[in-house]
Amino acid sequence: MLAGLMQPSPLSIASLIEFADRFHGSTELVTRTVEGPIHRYTYHDAHRRAKMLANALAALGLHSGDRIGTLAWNVHRHFELYFAVSGMGAVLHTINPRLFAEQIVYIVNHAEDRWIFVDLTFVPLLERLAEHLQSVAGYVIMTDEASMPETSLPNARCYETLLAEQSAEYSWPVLDETCASSLCYTSGTTGNPKGVLYSHRSTVLHSFCVCAADGLAVSSREVILPVVPMFHANAWGVAYAAPMSGAKLVLPGAKMDGASIFELLHDERVTLTLGVPTVWLMLLDYCESSGQALSHLERVVIGGAAAPRSMIERFERDHDVEVIHAWGMTEMSPLGTVCNLLPKHATLDAEARLDLKVKQGRPVYGVDLKITDDENHELPRDGRAFGRLKVRGPWITNGYFRGEGGAVLDDEQWFDTGDVSTLDPDGFMQITDRSKDVIKSGGEWISSIDLENHAIGHPAVAEAAVIAVPHPKWSERPLLVVRTRENATVTREEILAWMAQKLAKWQVPDDVVFVDALPHTATGKIRKLELRQQFAEHQLPDED
Ligand code: AMP
Repeated sequence: MLAGLMQPSPLSIASLIEFADRFHGSTELVTRTVEGPIHRYTYHDAHRRAKMLANALAALGLHSGDRIGTLAWNVHRHFELYFAVSGMGAVLHTINPRLFAEQIVYIVNHAEDRWIFVDLTFVPLLERLAEHLQSVAGYVIMTDEASMPETSLPNARCYETLLAEQSAEYSWPVLDETCASSLCYTSGTTGNPKGVLYSHRSTVLHSFCVCAADGLAVSSREVILPVVPMFHANAWGVAYAAPMSGAKLVLPGAKMDGASIFELLHDERVTLTLGVPTVWLMLLDYCESSGQALSHLERVVIGGAAAPRSMIERFERDHDVEVIHAWGMTEMSPLGTVCNLLPKHATLDAEARLDLKVKQGRPVYGVDLKITDDENHELPRDGRAFGRLKVRGPWITNGYFRGEGGAVLDDEQWFDTGDVSTLDPDGFMQITDRSKDVIKSGGEWISSIDLENHAIGHPAVAEAAVIAVPHPKWSERPLLVVRTRENATVTREEILAWMAQKLAKWQVPDDVVFVDALPHTATGKIRKLELRQQFAEHQLPDED
C-alpha cells in the first residue's frame, strides 16, 4: 500500500466549538432559560465557559471515558456540557427525562454515570430516584446561586459557582477520533432501553452531512431553533452542526407550547426549525387560532414520525414555509434520509409535489440503504415492493453499549432498522410501518402510517393511530383510534366515509374509536403496543 501524504488530524468535537469561537465568535446563541429570562451570549463566550467547565470536571475528579449524565432542556448550559464533557475525553450521557422513572434508574446504573447535571425542572424527579442511582457521586444543578433550590440530592453543587471557581485556560486534549463521545439510550418500547455510543469521528462526519446542501443545508446564514430536544439523538445533530457552520442557535428551554415557540421564531427571526409532528401541530393550531403567520421562517424539518400530508400542506400553503421531511433513528446519529426534491421535480403541480414530500426522502452521502424480504433477499427499488429497511455507514451503530441485544449487524454490516419501507427508482424511501405494527389482513399488508396520514387530513381529527385487531376471517383488520380537535364534533360514519374516499375498500378501517388522549413514548411517538393491549378485546362490527 502506498500511504497518502495528508495530515492525520483526528476528528474531534472540541474542534467544532474552537472553530465557531475563532471564525464566528460574535454569532449569538439565545436561550429561553428555565429560570425564565432570555439569555444571550456568543460562540466566543460559550467556548470560554466550556473550557471553564472542562476544568471544573477535572476538579470533580472526572477522567476520560467517565460517563456524565444530563437531565436537561435545550439551554446554553447544556450546550456547554456537550463540548466540555466530550472535549475533555469523557462521555456525555443525555438522559431523556420523559422515560419512566424505572427506566431512568436502569439507564443511569447501566451507563454507570459518575455525576449528573440537572436542570431545575428535574430536581424533584432525581430526588425521588437518587437512592437507587448507585454510581453517582454527586449532582450539579444547572443554575446560579440565586436560584439554587433546597434539595435532598446528595453532594449537590451549583453550576455557576462551580464555573466561577475555574480558569478559562484549557487546552483540549488530542483524542483518538474513535473514542466514545456521547451516549443516548433508545426509548425501549419493548424491553430495556439500549445505549447507542457515538464517537468523535461518527459525530463530526454526521455533522458534515447535516450541513451538506442535500442534507439539512445548515450554514452561517441560518438562524436555527431546534425544538427537538438535546436528549433526543443530539438534537438530530444540530447542536454540533450549528458551531460547525457558525449558524445562530436559538434554544427554547422548557417551553414547547405553540405560543412560546411562535414568539421565539418571530423575535429571533428564525429561518430553520426542527421537530416532531406533535410540536408542529401545536404551533400550527396556535397560528390559526391567533390569526398570525410565520413571517421569517423559511424551512421546517419534520422527523421522528411521519409528516402528515395535511401538515406539509398547512406549512407550505398557509405560511409559505418549505417542509423538509427527514427520517433517521438514534442508532444512526440520527440522519438517514432527507426529502429534498430533484431538479426534474421543479415543474410538478402541488399535488404531485405533496405525493413526493410525504416520502421520507433520499439517503444522504454516507448512508447506504436497501430493502429485503424476511429471508434477506433484496427487493426491487420500484416504489411498490416493501420490506425490511437495512442501513450501513460510518455514523450507524455497530452494536449497543455493553453488548445489549447481541450482534446487531449481519455478515455484510447491514443494520436492520425495524422499519418497513419502499424505495423508488430515484432513491426516495417511504416508511410504511414499524415491522411490528404492520397489519396483515388476508394475504395483504396494510400500512398503518398511510391510513393515519389520511385520517389526519380530516379537519376534525387532531391525532390518529391505526392498529391491528384480531379478526376470525382476515386474521387482522385495522382499527382507527382518533383524538378529535378541541370543540370539533365528528361521527364514526363520517370518518369512515372520509377514509373510503381515499382508500381501497379492503384498506378502510373496520371501526373507529374516539379517545381523549393517545399514549406517547418518551420521544413523542404513539405507543402502539399499549393501544394494541388496550383494544385487544375490541369487537369489530359485523361485515356488511
Ligand atoms: P428514535 O430513535 O427515537 O428517533 O426513533 C427512530 C424511529 O422513528 C425510526 O426507526 C422510525 O420508525 C421513526 N421515524 C423517524 N423519522 C420518521 C419519519 N420521518 N417517518 C416515519 N417514521 C419515522
